[in-house]
Amino acid sequence: CPWPRIQGAMFDRDSLLITYHDRRGEPRGPHKKGQPWEGRGDCIDCKACVAVCPMGIDIRDGSQLECIQCALCIDACNDIMKKVGRPKNLITYDTFRNLDAVEHGQRARLQLIRPRTILYTALMAVVGVIMLAALSQRALLEVNVLADRNPLFVTLSDGSVRNGYTVKILNKRYETRHFLLRVEGLPGASVRVLEFEAANASIDVVPDDLRALKVYVTVPPVEAAKLKRGSTSFSFVVRDKDLGAETRRATTFRSPER
Ligand code: SF4
Ligand code: SF4
Repeated sequence: CPWPRIQGAMFDRDSLLITYHDRRGEPRGPHKKGQPWEGRGDCIDCKACVAVCPMGIDIRDGSQLECIQCALCIDACNDIMKKVGRPKNLITYDTFRNLDAVEHGQRARLQLIRPRTILYTALMAVVGVIMLAALSQRALLEVNVLADRNPLFVTLSDGSVRNGYTVKILNKRYETRHFLLRVEGLPGASVRVLEFEAANASIDVVPDDLRALKVYVTVPPVEAAKLKRGSTSFSFVVRDKDLGAETRRATTFRSPER
């Protein structure tokens, strides 16, 4: 998991980190009900904090790179402190600066606003704006076209030339949408979606789903004779019947070399 390393690069001496207060907890050791607390630490060495740690570390050994700051050890230790009648927060959030200050009998002020936190806030705001912009610009319809490779084309008995395609329509809206399919840039061409009897049938795509259609595009003999050098560019046009929006996907039409 890269998260602890990312965290490690972001911390400074004023960052609030999960910390075991060893000055209060040590010397640790088992404690029986009724025994005095004088001359010993508050840690009863029950290892509840180690048992709950998802990273399998013992926070009493000091701050560690593996720690993901989930705070489960704080809750586990607070439950134990409550049971043995000692103050909470033997494991708690604290800063390295405050720990050093406590060593010298002082207390450091928590500094939330500092160059690092201002920079991170600004970066997060920029990333947030970019993500919102990307979300608002997100295409709610995706069309992909895959031309058949085998055969590249078929010459029909009347001289027409036919190409096969798989057209995939992905509806990213939360409602069923109805589409019409046509081609552009291929004079005289007709489109037939294999699963529909009628030409120009409505193609329904349920919410958040992809529909793959087998499609034949046929160019009649006269127009086929005019196609250049075996490969002609054209576009499939998918039109949303309700919204009127159109999405185009360019592809090629293969015909015999002349
Ligand atoms: S904060 Fe979470 S990961 Fe870190 S020591 Fe405590 S339980 Fe383990
Ligand atoms: S849960 Fe608290 S008392 Fe138990 S071992 Fe951890 S630090 Fe010590």
